[in-house]
Amino acid sequence: MVSGHEIVGKVIKVGSHVKKFKIGDWSGTGCLVDSCRACENYQEGLEQFCLNGRTATYNALGQDGKTPTYGGYSNTIVVHEDFVLRVSEKLDLAAVAPLLCAGITTYSPLKHWKVGKDHKLAFLGLGGLGHMAGKFGVAFGAEVTVLITSPEKEADAKKLGAHKFIATKDAEQLKSAIGYFDFILDTVSAPHDLNLYLSLLRVNGVHICVGVSPTPYEIHAFSLIGGRKSLAGSLIGG
Ligand SMILES: [Zn+2]
Repeated sequence: MVSGHEIVGKVIKVGSHVKKFKIGDWSGTGCLVDSCRACENYQEGLEQFCLNGRTATYNALGQDGKTPTYGGYSNTIVVHEDFVLRVSEKLDLAAVAPLLCAGITTYSPLKHWKVGKDHKLAFLGLGGLGHMAGKFGVAFGAEVTVLITSPEKEADAKKLGAHKFIATKDAEQLKSAIGYFDFILDTVSAPHDLNLYLSLLRVNGVHICVGVSPTPYEIHAFSLIGGRKSLAGSLIGG
């Protein structure tokens, strides 16, 4: 089961130093196949923030600086066991693969900020990341709201198990959500006005970007200082 960035498959060969796997085990590799394996961030299990350059599974160069990585487009892949996960054969492999990219990208910040019951979480964007964000948010016990651009998307949003929906172009609905959320998980990869979404956070609220707009955001300082709010980001996971 492959896509460009993550791979789930059977181990077909193991080196003599390998301790965690044997031939025939089901395994998965996410968005990273290597890092410097020495820096402070690596030691803390945060190799996605490698100070010397992580090696992405797809369309990157290995730590030697010259070997290209082809990710899910290769027939076989050689990976250090530190970057391989064990996958239970009881699981639906087609459902496991997205966990290694969209799954970890949304799980990681929700865990880092300890999002759970007593929290009001909103997420933006109904694609693969949003889908995972909604499911994790509900599973962790948060009250989950989907911020949608148009009411027609409500049917899609409902399938994710979210508790509430707010059409951000509906002035009345938007007004009711001012200062409401503890966290907003932003999975949108298109330009959008963060000042609008920051206004929906309560005091100390955190807006977490995991989507990447192609253009820089323009943020008014008062959008943050007006409620001791934080604008944060997160990248996949360790
Ligand atoms: Zn490193």
